[in-house]
Amino acid sequence: MRIGIFGGSFNPPHLGHMHLAESVHSALNLDEVWLVPSKISPHRSMDEYAPEQQRLAMCELAASEFPWMRVEDYELKQERISYTYYTVKHFAESRPDDTFFLLVGSDMFLSFDTWYQWQEILKYVTLVGMARKEGETKNLQKFAKTLGQYGKISVINVDSFTVSSTKIRSMIRKSQNYSCYLSGKIVQYIKEQNLYAGSDKMYHIKERTAFLEQHLSRKRFQHSCNVARAAKLLAQQYGADMEKAYFAGLVHDICKELPYEEQYTLMTAGNFAPDEAELHSRKLWHGIAGAYFIQTEFGIQDEDILNAIRFHTVGRAGMSLLEEIIYIADMISDERDYKGVGKMRRLATENLQVAMLEALTDAISSVLKKGGFLPHYTIEAYNSYMLRFGKPTEQKKGSSPE
Ligand code: FE
Ligand code: FE
Repeated sequence: MRIGIFGGSFNPPHLGHMHLAESVHSALNLDEVWLVPSKISPHRSMDEYAPEQQRLAMCELAASEFPWMRVEDYELKQERISYTYYTVKHFAESRPDDTFFLLVGSDMFLSFDTWYQWQEILKYVTLVGMARKEGETKNLQKFAKTLGQYGKISVINVDSFTVSSTKIRSMIRKSQNYSCYLSGKIVQYIKEQNLYAGSDKMYHIKERTAFLEQHLSRKRFQHSCNVARAAKLLAQQYGADMEKAYFAGLVHDICKELPYEEQYTLMTAGNFAPDEAELHSRKLWHGIAGAYFIQTEFGIQDEDILNAIRFHTVGRAGMSLLEEIIYIADMISDERDYKGVGKMRRLATENLQVAMLEALTDAISSVLKKGGFLPHYTIEAYNSYMLRFGKPTEQKKGSSPE
């Protein structure tokens, strides 16, 4: 079989891509064209890049419209971003009877001799430069001659089709009509999944901020904004979703100033299972109530966000990165000035888990001093961080209860 390898971020795959694939398919008489979505750094913002699984799903939708098109998730399955060399080597070695063509746009083609192991790549595939603009062809052909001594090179002309993923994403953000650039199925998928809308739209940051400003005291509102900012910074440092962290930080105390009666109603209405000690400690109610509130009022279904709000008061064993970020951001927000906040800020940037252990230790000893209740969540959280990050002191003989 003659197979074309068409790699790219496909973020999203658009009609320009399909047009290229169709042109090459017929020009080179290919049996199949494989879309190979590439891996992208997990730290890239959600605004710019749709998650891997969604880019893959969109490629599948695109390919479903052509009987000769397939999607290969080889690169997505790799641990990290991989070189084209390894991809073509893998394909060629796993299918020795097939002939492979590596399809690249003109920019990539002209810089091919800078690619990792480029001469080796040419042992596995025919390199195909796709000239899209008039005048490009000559340049590409000239360069093809130079490369020709190392392997098989081919240059083909494809009619220009001016559209780019960047342009489409920007149109989506501006709520402009972009449907003529994508297949209908992908348009529908983007709408359903709310892709590329931008975090502001996804979490309605502006509206939520206005809501909080209206419903919270000045002091609590300021605190919420500060926690949001601190959470975003921690997310940046530790590689979590920054927009999600900002949103969770912003709304974490959303129910804090409601009358206790209302907090109690909200707390017990959902499935957030307050424990005995939480039911006895009114100051802890707002976390559980808040999770239920944003779930029902704002339609937030993201479990991680809901848990981050629900557990920001008590912690728990097995906290996610986002849960830790919100818990700690709440401790180190700009306006905090308790004794020990300096140490907490330092720990937060050094090691988030060690900061968690310190914060839980402080929280527990302050409850013990005041004679309050300790939720089992907090005790389990303390034990789990202590086991992994604590330095237990040697127990003196006779001092431990048997
Ligand atoms: Fe709180
Ligand atoms: Fe708070």
